[in-house]
Amino acid sequence: EAVGLTKHFEVTDRFGQTKLVRALEEADLALHPGKTVGLVGESGSGKTTLARLLALFHPATSGEIKLDGRPVSHSKDGERDYYRQVQLIFQDPFASLNPLKTVRYTLGRALRIHGHARKGADLEDKIIELLGKVNLTPAETFIDKLPHELSGGQRQRVVIARALAVQPKVLLGDEPISMLDVSIRLDVLNLLANLRDSEDLALLYITHDIASARYLCDSITVLYAGQLVEGGPVDAVIQQPRHPYTRLLLDSSPDPGRTVTAEGRRAGLFELEGSLGEPPNLSDPPPGCRFHPRCPFAMDECRTELPARTEFPDGHWARCWLHQKQQSHLLQLDEEKR
Ligand code: SF4
Repeated sequence: EAVGLTKHFEVTDRFGQTKLVRALEEADLALHPGKTVGLVGESGSGKTTLARLLALFHPATSGEIKLDGRPVSHSKDGERDYYRQVQLIFQDPFASLNPLKTVRYTLGRALRIHGHARKGADLEDKIIELLGKVNLTPAETFIDKLPHELSGGQRQRVVIARALAVQPKVLLGDEPISMLDVSIRLDVLNLLANLRDSEDLALLYITHDIASARYLCDSITVLYAGQLVEGGPVDAVIQQPRHPYTRLLLDSSPDPGRTVTAEGRRAGLFELEGSLGEPPNLSDPPPGCRFHPRCPFAMDECRTELPARTEFPDGHWARCWLHQKQQSHLLQLDEEKR
């Protein structure tokens, strides 16, 4: 569980000037065994920053990460224990593997380091079992191959097998199919879905592709310019988007299976025309709701303050002044009736 995770980076540009990049602001996210959460957003929205914070690659500027309800200890032992439970799969499987090491070495090393196998027949059996889990069978066809002798899809399966070697509870997939051939993306999504179910994994699927998120995920969280703006059950978010940015994202995504219901249009409060355009520069982000320079509904409040979450009865939420205002208007009507 991420609670209020914030990350600001200092970067120095080519003129030697230091800037603060506000990559992520107060992100809350919860993952559960056997379920997939989709984190959806454009390039530069902060998706990878959030994944890297969750993998403890960077310290957060503020906020905390909890595992089984307890804050993660940043001692050496605490972090080692965390790495055994939370594994990250990167976008580029070729860059994730040592080009000089065989599949046997890569998987064997992970198994030995984390104490799940020692050597000899025991190690060989465990490597074969891992290859079976990611459908690289028969094992003898793959076990002595180097990364360049495998296809992109096979390499990503080896990366997933290496993550499984530590018997994690949580798998973080940072755009795990975006560098693969279109023809094999569905196979890898199906593999992740099967592993989530058979291993009871909590899966975070990070993507810019809302159609693949819809296929794999139980719920979706939408990230815009470092701010989480909407989330909820996958069908609720896709059929009835509540935030103008989500609506634009959906309208710009080719997904012939999606229909926005009449109820969805009414509840969404808007009809939007437009294109996504360019996201803001995070070293000088707009104040308030960061979507306001591109939002046709922007009001004075939007330019100064990010609204609180508005929660809806279907488990769906959005951070938008349109809903905050509508909700306070409804509350006022309720009061008046009483
Ligand atoms: Fe648009 Fe304001 Fe809602 Fe942001 S908070 S999406 S600017 S209406």
